[in-house]
Amino acid sequence: MFGKSVNLIKVFGFQVKVDISWIIIAGLVTWSLAVGFFPHYLEGLRPVDYWILAIFGALGLFFSIVFHEFWHSVVARKMGVPIKGITLFMFGGVAEMDEDPRTPKSEFWIAVAGPLSSLFLALVFYLLFNLSLTLDVIPGVSSVLMYLALINLILAIFNLIPAFPMDGGRILRAILWQLKKDLRWATQVAAKGGSIFGFVLMGLGLLNILTGYLVGGLWYFFIGMFIRFVAQNSYRQIMVRNALKDETVQKLMKNPVHVPGDITLRELVEDYVYKYHYKLFPVKEGESMKGCVTTRQIGEIEQKNWQDILVREITRECSPENTVGPDESVVKVLGRMNRSGVSRMMVVENGELKGIISLKDIMASLSARMELEGDSSFTD
Ligand SMILES: [Zn+2]
Repeated sequence: MFGKSVNLIKVFGFQVKVDISWIIIAGLVTWSLAVGFFPHYLEGLRPVDYWILAIFGALGLFFSIVFHEFWHSVVARKMGVPIKGITLFMFGGVAEMDEDPRTPKSEFWIAVAGPLSSLFLALVFYLLFNLSLTLDVIPGVSSVLMYLALINLILAIFNLIPAFPMDGGRILRAILWQLKKDLRWATQVAAKGGSIFGFVLMGLGLLNILTGYLVGGLWYFFIGMFIRFVAQNSYRQIMVRNALKDETVQKLMKNPVHVPGDITLRELVEDYVYKYHYKLFPVKEGESMKGCVTTRQIGEIEQKNWQDILVREITRECSPENTVGPDESVVKVLGRMNRSGVSRMMVVENGELKGIISLKDIMASLSARMELEGDSSFTD
């Protein structure tokens, strides 16, 4: 979901990162404040003054979003849900949770903390705005304060819309989860809310585009698409985690196909790669495991040399990226495969190769489970 992100600051142990897409948005926000909002609200300033106000406005917006995500993170940490960090990206911010909240109560409080903190900031900026009016400070200062009060109010209200994965959707899910004790059903309903809301935004976007507001229209349209995508995706993710939560690597691993070290690369390709279509093979000599050989390594060697080189000559130590323990949970392995792009991992215990676990086998087990449990949303 994210592109390249840059580490920025650390707030109470939470790393704040900024995705490249956010820098573009920051530029757009500053520009629209400088030529739109501030000139409209406060007349008679020089253009350069509007730009200065706009920069303060954009910095305040940045602070407001970090503040909102920060409170999600603080409450999550208090509830025992680990937080990797806060990332600002195109459509706002996100507190990256490593796992889902375990109880409806913790989900409720983590979700509600964000909008509450935004409401609080809106109130603070509103009071400061009033104070600045009575103290008769530079008019620019009051207009920035008013903008920040307004934007925090909008942040709070927008996030409270009951559409998963937005805060309001999470609050709704927590309440439904508490009422019926069924996380699956609660997620389904909240995600449907997200899907519908995304659709409404896309429709509004189209309407705007058709009536001549191209930029605003595209904006609505993309946010709508994004919310729909995330709603559907997070529903699937939760179903997958639920279905596989008790599975360990041991249960799903297969016997490994070993390759002897004393055959040539040509033989390896003909007899193993073309036969099994694996990208990685463990190399064994006698009873001991020597390491790994991958198709990428073979590809780096010219084909005409394949019959002169033995497998043992290019065998490398298997990287920790490719190995897991037999007792690890399949959900965690799936997460690792997702991040690293590796689809086959060796199951190693005390330096000995026990088996191989592949994405294909995990998926096969998942689809069998789904079919038995009568969930058809995965078969498409
Ligand atoms: Zn939030």
